[in-house]
Amino acid sequence: MISVEEALKIISKQSVDLGSEEVSFSEATGRVLDEDIKADRDFPPFHRATMDGICISLKDWETGMRTFPVFGEQFAGAPQQKLKLGSCMEVMTGAVVPENANVVIRYEDLTIENAVATVNVDGVSEMLNIHLQGTDAEKGKVLIKKGKRISHGDVGILTSVGKTTVKVKKLPQVAIISTGDELVEPDQKPEPHQIRKSNIYTLFSLLKSQRISFEVFHIDDELEEIKLELDKLLTKFDVLMLSGGVSMGKKDFIPEALESRGIKTHFHKIKQRPGKPLWFGSNDQVTVFGFPGNPVSTIACYTVYFQTWLHQSLGLEQSISQAELTEDIHFPKELTFFVHVSITNEKGILKATPLRGNGSGDLVSLSTADGFMELPADQSHFKKGEVLKVHLF
Ligand code: AMP
Ligand code: MG
Repeated sequence: MISVEEALKIISKQSVDLGSEEVSFSEATGRVLDEDIKADRDFPPFHRATMDGICISLKDWETGMRTFPVFGEQFAGAPQQKLKLGSCMEVMTGAVVPENANVVIRYEDLTIENAVATVNVDGVSEMLNIHLQGTDAEKGKVLIKKGKRISHGDVGILTSVGKTTVKVKKLPQVAIISTGDELVEPDQKPEPHQIRKSNIYTLFSLLKSQRISFEVFHIDDELEEIKLELDKLLTKFDVLMLSGGVSMGKKDFIPEALESRGIKTHFHKIKQRPGKPLWFGSNDQVTVFGFPGNPVSTIACYTVYFQTWLHQSLGLEQSISQAELTEDIHFPKELTFFVHVSITNEKGILKATPLRGNGSGDLVSLSTADGFMELPADQSHFKKGEVLKVHLF
């Protein structure tokens, strides 16, 4: 059995290049950029007035002029006009500063009567209230680097440089597969010996929130049936996410069936709780996660291992959060303990409150969980106030 660290190393090594695709900017938020985004022109593209008022030439001001006849108006969206020296023009925020003008004086600092503006302040300087062309970014400058996850703000940048479509890293196509003879669909009434499927719908929800497309399947605990179904699925998807059938039970056929289909086992079983029987393998086309069926195990393995694989495959940095434990925990086993926690932010510090429930099958305790805190295997007592890694959904 391998350690969590070893398992994560193997998972990272098995990341794949999923390629790239063009998507509309309207679908781009949260995706990983696969090209540099450059300024297609200077930003701002012209000397831009930042206040409503008048514009003058500093030369006139320096001769002592303080009253200016008003000749014309320069509105935002209108082509650049020319200021006649010895006069002023009204100018609006966002407008191109007229030729010959290099000072904008706000209406608040003026009186305008009978088409003559009188300036009521002393200090003006060259380019006052003017946002200079190219000072935010010069044409050709990289505004967003390849490899970044696209933020809400980035969508504004994309559209301002005319990128209506953008090259992003492809996301994997996933098959979520439940296994187990005891499982029925959520809209069915289970017999006394049956239960409704739940954890594959937790996976469904997690994948949906990450905008990953997937299809849902079910396989009964019959070796030949599993092999037949795998033959169909292994060529159609980038990732198979199986739930159940990887433990010690007499009908836990998943590892055997996968191996018979040429999927190489990278590891089976990790020194951890929950999720000890996690199985991970791949061939050249497909990566397979065999999650243990217990609901808490499934979601823990998804959060820690699938997310690591996904981030690595997308070229994203692994973002590791830390939080402060709010109560003592004693866990004597020599296993890494992924305890599900609810996270609060108290005065800027993330606090993790354990939701221990009744072990890995306790679905209800997941309701208020935000992720898992990683309690290392070489320690048994974890004190309130200790700061430890958390893996968030
Ligand atoms: P297994 O890993 O197949 O031994 O399953 C472990 C436990 O998880 C059993 O109690 C199963 O009934 C339960 N289980 C397996 N798959 C699911 C599922 N999709 N939804 C809810 N419980 C499940
Ligand atoms: Mg099972």
